[in-house]
Amino acid sequence: LKTTVFWRETEPVTPGPPLRGDVSCDVCIVGGGYTGLWTAYLLKQAQPTLDIHVLEAEYAGAGASGHNDGFVTPTIGHGLHGCVHQFGPRRAADAYAAVGRSIMEISRFCTKNNVHAELERTDLLLVATSPGQERRLRDDLSIAASLGGRNLPRILRDAEAREVIGSAAIRAALPGGGALVNPHKLARGLARVVVEHHAVIHERTRVHGIERLGGRYRVRTGQGMVQAGTVVIATNAYQHVFRPFKPRLLPVWSYAVVTEPLTSRQLGRVHWPNREGFIEGRNFIRFGRLTADNRVLFGGGRAAYRYGRNMHQRFIRDRRVEASLISAFHGYFPEWKDVPISHSYGGCIAITRDLVPHAGRLPDGTYYAYGYCGNGIAMSHTAGKILRDLILQRDSEYTRLPLVNRREGRFLPEPLSWLAAQTATAVLATQDRYPRALPWRFI
Ligand SMILES: Cc1cc2nc3c(=O)[nH]c(=O)nc-3n(C[C@H](O)[C@H](O)[C@H](O)COP(=O)(O)OP(=O)(O)OC[C@H]3O[C@@H](n4cnc5c(N)ncnc54)[C@H](O)[C@@H]3O)c2cc1C
Repeated sequence: LKTTVFWRETEPVTPGPPLRGDVSCDVCIVGGGYTGLWTAYLLKQAQPTLDIHVLEAEYAGAGASGHNDGFVTPTIGHGLHGCVHQFGPRRAADAYAAVGRSIMEISRFCTKNNVHAELERTDLLLVATSPGQERRLRDDLSIAASLGGRNLPRILRDAEAREVIGSAAIRAALPGGGALVNPHKLARGLARVVVEHHAVIHERTRVHGIERLGGRYRVRTGQGMVQAGTVVIATNAYQHVFRPFKPRLLPVWSYAVVTEPLTSRQLGRVHWPNREGFIEGRNFIRFGRLTADNRVLFGGGRAAYRYGRNMHQRFIRDRRVEASLISAFHGYFPEWKDVPISHSYGGCIAITRDLVPHAGRLPDGTYYAYGYCGNGIAMSHTAGKILRDLILQRDSEYTRLPLVNRREGRFLPEPLSWLAAQTATAVLATQDRYPRALPWRFI
């Protein structure tokens, strides 16, 4: 069993040279994931003369962007329910419309720029395996209706649902928008296009500090320094290493297992004609999808916060979560019990107190976007537009979105954060297990 990220095997990477010496530029972006790269790309599209440098600790896509499960969800933060709770229905609808546009634009971007990211424009399905989960689907549908959603899908039940995915475990399914992608190829392709637009990406270049001097910033790295008029911090789950963000997010581990490629005979055992990714509606979601080479990726389950915001690679495998994922995968698809699991790994998502992302400008003038709560592929594209318009001082529909410059809740210092996270995890997991015992919706 490999404890390395499956997607990285699909396209090898040789990281580029680090920054050596000092440079001066208009915009310095810290972090070469989707947020940093979309921001660089969209800024270059809007103002090609801007001199932009991206500083990336490892290589473009080395973080969650090259490593996620590839569900291009139209979701903001943890989910629709929480987003409406935080923003109210009208403003939540604006935000959802923006992210929906991002999904279409990512698809167009890939076609236009020959980014072969294995994008499959299938719907994503929210599925239920119990009456409690089915209530959640109905709840989500009625929230979507209250946002003024038109042409809403209907819930498919029993045999109808199994016409879409032939799993006996699925008792209901709700088609939603979205797509599947190879996240690593998307990140690498996007990085290539950013460079073609004459932005500079310095890989193997970790930022150690940012200082403000007069009207400009000095961004310190191991072997050089960038002086810039504008700085963007786009490091998502790593954002807490920059002091102003420390209390604002927790990095939380999320896991997946991946099988060996299915043979065509194995694939034929389960009816899954349109290959939609599916997401089981619980607090700790579980999800499954096929990859381009017909592996099954199955992930989710109990997410884990490690004391002191620990993101060390030794946590890349969690045997307890792995066992529960394999058991859930076999519960969905007993026909594939004989298919070997080839990979088991995890990575960190960025959780905020209010379970929605945040973008904006700090009082010292630094720009930021982070906190996608595990739904960042499409959202980071929208965040790129927000950052573009804030930096160019445009008043736009993006800068008016409710997640911009919003007051944020703070997490408590350790050990209180850890204790609170353990308590919340236990309550949410109990509710997933015994939905009748705790009938309220927490998240
Ligand atoms: C396991 C997992 C599964 C996920 N699944 C999905 C999914 O299916 N669908 C979905 O929509 N979202 C998913 N997400 C979330 C999504 O991947 C992220 O929200 C998104 O990639 C965030 O992009 P980013 O650019 O903000 O951050 P990242 O991609 O993490 O990029 C930040 C970059 O900053 C760099 N960096 C960090 N510190 C420094 C420093 N000091 N100096 C310089 N560079 C630095 C890192 O190396 C990294 O490359 C998942 C995340 C994880 C971890």
